[in-house]
Amino acid sequence: MTRNNVALLGATGSIGRSATAVLSCCKERFNVPLVAARSSIDKLAGCAGQLDAQMVLTTDDTKLDELSSLLPPGVQALSGMDALIETVTSDKIDTVLCAIIGTAGIRPVLAAIEAGKTVALASKEVMVSAGELVNAALKANPRARLIPVDSEHSGVFQALAGRRKDEVETIILTASGGPFRTWSAEQIATATLEEALDHPTWSMGQKITIDSASMMNKALELVEARYLFEDYHAKLDVLVHPQSAVHALIGLTDGSLIAQCAIADMKLPIAYALTYPERVALPVEKLSLAAMGKLEFSAPDRKRFPAFDFADAALSAGGTLPCAMNAANEVAVERFCAGEITFGSIYRIIEKVMSAWHNEPQISLEQLDEADAEARRRAREVKL
Ligand code: NDP
Ligand code: MG
Repeated sequence: MTRNNVALLGATGSIGRSATAVLSCCKERFNVPLVAARSSIDKLAGCAGQLDAQMVLTTDDTKLDELSSLLPPGVQALSGMDALIETVTSDKIDTVLCAIIGTAGIRPVLAAIEAGKTVALASKEVMVSAGELVNAALKANPRARLIPVDSEHSGVFQALAGRRKDEVETIILTASGGPFRTWSAEQIATATLEEALDHPTWSMGQKITIDSASMMNKALELVEARYLFEDYHAKLDVLVHPQSAVHALIGLTDGSLIAQCAIADMKLPIAYALTYPERVALPVEKLSLAAMGKLEFSAPDRKRFPAFDFADAALSAGGTLPCAMNAANEVAVERFCAGEITFGSIYRIIEKVMSAWHNEPQISLEQLDEADAEARRRAREVKL
């Protein structure tokens, strides 16, 4: 079997750890020439050792010496975004698994698409902020492929396999509801960091865990779905489903719903994106619906979770507004984690930035960089 040469970006994070487990349990299928991250140099060197990576890259140039000192002879240390782009577009790489948090993943993802690579995409911010540019790059480079890793989008992708586009009427993402699913609006407004980090079903990085509590994760995912599944022209919807067993459903013209179910473990969607259209045996627990007993579903409460209004605005406007929503949310979450603002103020900051936004169609990366910086500046200045 020819091995798939995978570049793992964001190797030191929560998705990076799950990806390392998948890649190291299927060494006959995968070669990992490159692992990359930014600041966690010890972890990065450890991950490189586990995966026998020949190249190890930090995007922070000031960390290159520290990284070099930790690598064995023969393993190359690299640094900087330009080196990252050069490596992921080289003929040493077939597939780029992007799990860099935030918008730093946009450049390597676009470059990989332009070089005709397969991109397995966990970084939802890439599609949220730059979905129009990514789709234009995919159309211009038909050899390239983009496969979602985000669990709900992987669920949709799996349910859509082999389906005619005009048969699909709705795409439904599920949401666990997070730790505040049953809380009142007043309780949510004053929730603490510890309470927001107490996710009932998924174990994830800090930022996305806070986003799950505010439901901004689902707002981002609706926009992500709009761009990932643009060609289906399907209505997008969300169902709150506290058991996190069903990750997504598609609704067909005859009224059938096709659901994708599995345990809540990111190793599954990561492996599927890397082996698509094949599947591999994974060292994960199997979902037992009998043991779970009951599955519950309800419509999200839009009054307690204004994130859905932001999603509606971003979905109908497109352009640079989703980028502004994402940037404002990132700053608001940083301010909340720093103890500067209350949980409820996250919504106020996003609302202020989005309602005053001068929207434009997406035309270039430079324009998106400016929009991103402007939205961040405004989000930092919002007085509460
Ligand atoms: P983490 O915070 O756990 O990890 C983030 C990773 O990104 C780290 O490896 C970090 O490196 C790296 N990174 C950050 N900035 C840069 C940069 N400028 N250049 C290179 N690497 C960088 O995040 P998660 O793993 O939770 O999430 C990663 C992405 O996957 C996010 O976009 C998230 O929305 C998405 N996702 C995550 C899920 C989950 O279960 N965790 C589920 C679905 C989607 P370092 O630490 O070394 O600085
Ligand atoms: Mg998700």
